[in-house]
Amino acid sequence: MSNSWSNWSGFVSATPKLIATPADAGELADLVRSAPGPLRVAGAGHSFTPLVQSDGAIVSLEKIEGLVSHDAEKHQARVRAGTRLGPLMRLLQGVGQGLPNMGDIDRQAIGGALGTATHGSGPTLGAYHTQLETVQFVDGRGRLRDFSRTGDQDMIHATGVALGAFGVLTEVTMNNIATYRLRRRKWVLPIADMLRDFETMMAAHRSAEFYYIPFSGYAQFIASDLSAAAPTPRPTEDDEEGLATLRKLRTALRRLPWLRRWLIRGAVKKVPPEDYVQDWLNVYASDRRTKFNEMEYHLPYEEGPNALAEIIALTEKHFPEVYFPMEVRSVAPDEFWLSPFHKRRTCSIAIHHDAANDPLPFMRAAEPIFRRYGGRPHWGKMHGLKAADLKKLYPRWDDAMAVRRDIDPQNRFLSPYMAGLFGIEL
Ligand SMILES: Cc1cc2nc3c(=O)[nH]c(=O)nc-3n(C[C@H](O)[C@H](O)[C@H](O)COP(=O)(O)OP(=O)(O)OC[C@H]3O[C@@H](n4cnc5c(N)ncnc54)[C@H](O)[C@@H]3O)c2cc1C
Repeated sequence: MSNSWSNWSGFVSATPKLIATPADAGELADLVRSAPGPLRVAGAGHSFTPLVQSDGAIVSLEKIEGLVSHDAEKHQARVRAGTRLGPLMRLLQGVGQGLPNMGDIDRQAIGGALGTATHGSGPTLGAYHTQLETVQFVDGRGRLRDFSRTGDQDMIHATGVALGAFGVLTEVTMNNIATYRLRRRKWVLPIADMLRDFETMMAAHRSAEFYYIPFSGYAQFIASDLSAAAPTPRPTEDDEEGLATLRKLRTALRRLPWLRRWLIRGAVKKVPPEDYVQDWLNVYASDRRTKFNEMEYHLPYEEGPNALAEIIALTEKHFPEVYFPMEVRSVAPDEFWLSPFHKRRTCSIAIHHDAANDPLPFMRAAEPIFRRYGGRPHWGKMHGLKAADLKKLYPRWDDAMAVRRDIDPQNRFLSPYMAGLFGIEL
């Protein structure tokens, strides 16, 4: 087996001494005890930060996957942590359950999605980790440990969002809901109207989000609400074609920015609205083929519109190479100690940069804006924060670090990157 690993976008890579795919928790525990360190666990490699990078061992749980059991009355399901979200959706649908919400894609492993507080959008909908009822993980000494919300809520809150540094999750029980159907609608509107009506528009739907198309002055709003209507066909997705057009205009009209704006605005205004009804598992996920790198900051909800206006102004004044739409979502507050949504209603703003180009100048220019508005970075997306900055953003930081020390006293899970995040000298 090749000893090289890289993330989805190709920005982060590693050549560890060992890449392993244990078949069960017992093999995993042996690896935690004996593999060359640091031992980092990989989900599907869809994070943009060097979370998984290691020159010791990278362990994938791709063989530790599937549904363990379910409780039809409580709508709970116990799943193995290596299960990818796509197969997980279908397994849950098969037992009459649904995930209450989802992000943009279904490629992540559930362990990876939990590890970075992966989220979708919706004023009352939390990120995946808020569904946790129990966790089972292998700790830094290779011991299997189990915790439940009823037995030890603090441990659930400490280890639910844990960046692969508080043990390797093997199984989790999730609180789901009965399967459901959604009506999804999309339409375009001027960004000035969207920013003005942000609070009401985002609050008016079970799930709402929007994309700002750079250099257009327009946003595409996406609203999803529960529906009992019969399913109608989901329109063929044309996001990739749209991106290809935006890229071509960017490249061809480098010296004619006014013409680029005029053409994009004209094209976006003509995008037809969408309106369809489908079972939950056919609604959320998109196919993202054009590779990008991404930064996403989670801001106090009410700061969203002002922060976005500044990010748009920065982009359109100084970064004409940018063509990816910016994504804006809302996330409900929660109690998890390292959750970027900790006790805070959140507006999340994500910016993207073509993976073929260096993303850092754009990201470095945008980050101070996000930080000025009190943003907390998405753990799996680009940011430049270290322990001293993070500690100020997380009221339970010290408590989380104390739990981490107990789970991993010999720092088996700490790579240099992780040690920098946590402020620990190796
Ligand atoms: C195209 C694309 C779309 C995306 N859309 C969204 C979105 O809509 N919303 C959003 O919030 N994010 C989104 N992301 C980011 C992505 O969801 C997160 O980075 C997520 O963590 C990736 O999951 P993964 O399985 O690839 O995990 P990895 O990136 O491989 O790992 C993430 C972290 O989880 C840890 N981990 C993995 N498995 C385990 C385990 N079994 N036990 C303990 N720790 C573990 C790893 O060590 C690492 O720290 C997107 C990313 C891409 C590339």
